[in-house]
Amino acid sequence: MVTITVDGRTLQTEDGRTIIEAARDHGIDIPHFCWHPKLSMSGNCRMCLVEVEKLPKLVIACGTKVVEGMVVRTSTPRVLNAREAVMEFLLINHPLDCPICDEAGECKLQDYAYKHSVGYSRFTEDKVHKPKRVELGPHVMLDTERCIMCSRCVRFCAEIAQAPQLTFTQRGDHVELTTFPGQQLDNPYAMNTIDICPVGALTSREFRFRARVWEMSATDTICPGCARGCSMFSWVRNNEILRQTPRYNPEVNEYWMCDKGRLETYKAVNAETRIKAPVVKTEGEYTELAWDEAIARVASEFRVYRKAEIAVFGSAFATNEDNYLLQKFARDVLGTKHIVVIPHVVPGDEDALLIRADKTPNWRGAAALGMTDPANLPQILQAMREGAIKAAYVMEDNVAADPAIASALSRLDFLVVQATNENETTRLADVILPAAAFAERHGTFTNFQGRVQRIRPSVATLDQDRASDGLAMSRLDRFGTSFDRWGRGVKRDARPSWKIIAGIASVMGMKYRYTTAEDVFAELASTVEAFKGLTYRSIGNRGQVLAAPREQSVRS
Ligand code: SF4
Ligand code: SF4
Repeated sequence: MVTITVDGRTLQTEDGRTIIEAARDHGIDIPHFCWHPKLSMSGNCRMCLVEVEKLPKLVIACGTKVVEGMVVRTSTPRVLNAREAVMEFLLINHPLDCPICDEAGECKLQDYAYKHSVGYSRFTEDKVHKPKRVELGPHVMLDTERCIMCSRCVRFCAEIAQAPQLTFTQRGDHVELTTFPGQQLDNPYAMNTIDICPVGALTSREFRFRARVWEMSATDTICPGCARGCSMFSWVRNNEILRQTPRYNPEVNEYWMCDKGRLETYKAVNAETRIKAPVVKTEGEYTELAWDEAIARVASEFRVYRKAEIAVFGSAFATNEDNYLLQKFARDVLGTKHIVVIPHVVPGDEDALLIRADKTPNWRGAAALGMTDPANLPQILQAMREGAIKAAYVMEDNVAADPAIASALSRLDFLVVQATNENETTRLADVILPAAAFAERHGTFTNFQGRVQRIRPSVATLDQDRASDGLAMSRLDRFGTSFDRWGRGVKRDARPSWKIIAGIASVMGMKYRYTTAEDVFAELASTVEAFKGLTYRSIGNRGQVLAAPREQSVRS
């Protein structure tokens, strides 16, 4: 450890840290563009110049290591002067088109222009003009004029994505970012370059011009696209998700997320294929019913069957709370032991950075609840084919995408499916109950590391899901749009799965007294050993590892 002084504060820091890192560790932010904590040092923007006692010239804080007794000053007149000069240079050829720039409102250059610039330009000559709309790849658009040549995107591709696809050409004020000849910016993590670009040079082809940043709410949640469970923000306007961006979590995904998780997971939430109301099949015709009527129908049908005649499909796409209540309902109300959860593994579709072959967010949670015994599925399918199992309850999994399961389900007398969207399984159902999507409810997923993380609602349903967590709700309330303050946007008539199950149990004579997902989780944490001691509050925004994490691989 070494002791240094920054702006009069004495700091203890590890040997080998740079000034910018040591200051940041202690909450002192030194302005910077090109430096990023997870990329190699480039030192090209010169924004982090600071004064170090006994050194004749200003030094860059990102490229200077601390030594014992070092005295650093970050806001002397010399430093401020240098910072203003850097800003003046950067803005000389910048187009200053903030009113039409997607980055406006979350742009480092814009923020620093307010904080560290004199507010006017002495440059009266013509600016250098460059291409404004360059398709770098399938998801990323480049505005070459806005680029400040920080090289963050170049280093990200080479160092993190392991796909060196970007480089600079030309010299001086004619430098341009481009792809290598014959290449595109096309790798599984390409869109992270948009997040780390400090200006509006790189924008998302899916999101650009769709909303201003201040019109949206940003909710802390996690991606359900695979067993990693990357922390992310869900950005919403008028009750519609418009984009998802990574949220820093050093234990799970650092600063990154994959493009597939970013782009694909929210589209099902907004899709036209959402189940819009409870639906019951009568004489081959589907009819929409009120929730109470649909639940009464399910309860009266299940009363007809004996315990061994009913099977229950849990889901590695559903939350711990949903699976916990489903297996409790199966055991205490239906009285069946036929419980199964289907794995969804894509062998080979994984890498060393984030992407996992297990494409479910909660296999590990279902396993901790004892619902993943691989011997159960063949037995259940066999019993369905032989007519010994006559009814089934499927929660949040398109199990009929597997032809063998579809064939067995088609022999049943009665099939209830809880689903967010229409799929092969809902097409076989006698009753379809609309489940709230991951972005419409509270709950927890357990990722492959055994880390329990929270999902939170970023869009509202008619049956709004609540929790006692002040942070998430006040965030939504403050921005308002998620609660449809403007009277726009569609609120779907969907309910969290645990609540649907509790409703059916209640009609069948078992009163579950949960009012929130948090109530269900509290009971789960007090009864299931692996979850002991966990609460929504202790899980917080970065998750908490199960009490006894076991490495459990998913079966293909
Ligand atoms: S496009 Fe953005 S991240 Fe890439 S070099 Fe230019 S300013 Fe930096
Ligand atoms: S790695 Fe998995 S959890 Fe992370 S963003 Fe991609 S799909 Fe989502």
